[in-house]
Amino acid sequence: MPTLEIRDLHVAVGDKEILRGVDLTVRGGETHAIMGPNGSGKSTLAYALAGHPKYTVTKGEVLLDGEDLLAMSVDERARAGLFLAMQYPVEVPGVSVSNFLRSAITAIRGEAPKLRDFRNELRSKMEALAIDPSFAQRNVNEGFSGGEKKRHEILQLELINPKVAILDETDSGLDIDALRVVSGGINRFRSRGDTGVLLITHYTRILRYVAPDFVHVFAGGRIVEEGGPELAEKLEAEGYEAYVKAASV
Ligand code: ADP
Ligand code: MG
Ligand code: MG
Repeated sequence: MPTLEIRDLHVAVGDKEILRGVDLTVRGGETHAIMGPNGSGKSTLAYALAGHPKYTVTKGEVLLDGEDLLAMSVDERARAGLFLAMQYPVEVPGVSVSNFLRSAITAIRGEAPKLRDFRNELRSKMEALAIDPSFAQRNVNEGFSGGEKKRHEILQLELINPKVAILDETDSGLDIDALRVVSGGINRFRSRGDTGVLLITHYTRILRYVAPDFVHVFAGGRIVEEGGPELAEKLEAEGYEAYVKAASV
């Protein structure tokens, strides 16, 4: 089973320390939700794991299947089985969704999938995500609606089929129908049984569809509370205020 181990992770942007000692282990077959208020450092964790150059790890370690993730380049992290869907995906001008996805798969698997196999796979996965076939010919993220961006992220997830997926606010800006479709994609990925999911959100809504095994509350750049799915219900009822106060003293 794949395992992502985050130990005492400290991350800074410039001189500002944002993550202040995060400890978290995600094993294959587990779904972890990270919840927390705006500005608590959730996306910083995702960016640091992705290897974004702006986010400097100042202390701690991250192991993927026992290998030092932080020593890997961004590409190596993806090849090692880590998948990141970002909160603000970038535009890739002049590159169609279809070509983008085929290149991504080629880069990760080390060989290009046969065109016909790829087209068939793409078609069936798009259908499952209720994506119009014409979408494959559009340029990546150019003029995508919020919902299209999220479906495209989950399409990538299902095609790339990584070991561990980190999904940052995959639920933001989705209407109920889109949320169901996107959650369905995450659940298909989970149904493989050995995949790890780190689901970052500040709403409990998505957790009704993608039931987490563990819930972690982020405040002030660290995990301040952990529990099972019932913790999400408690947060829904009580909000984050108590945790924010405790973290700021
Ligand atoms: P969350 O995702 O929980 O809303 P973020 O990780 O986006 O929180 O942000 C945590 C804190 O780090 C905020 O105070 C934010 O302003 C700061 N921060 C994050 N990324 C940057 C950046 N690239 N430059 C400057 N400050 C940043
Ligand atoms: Mg935010
Ligand atoms: Mg964020």
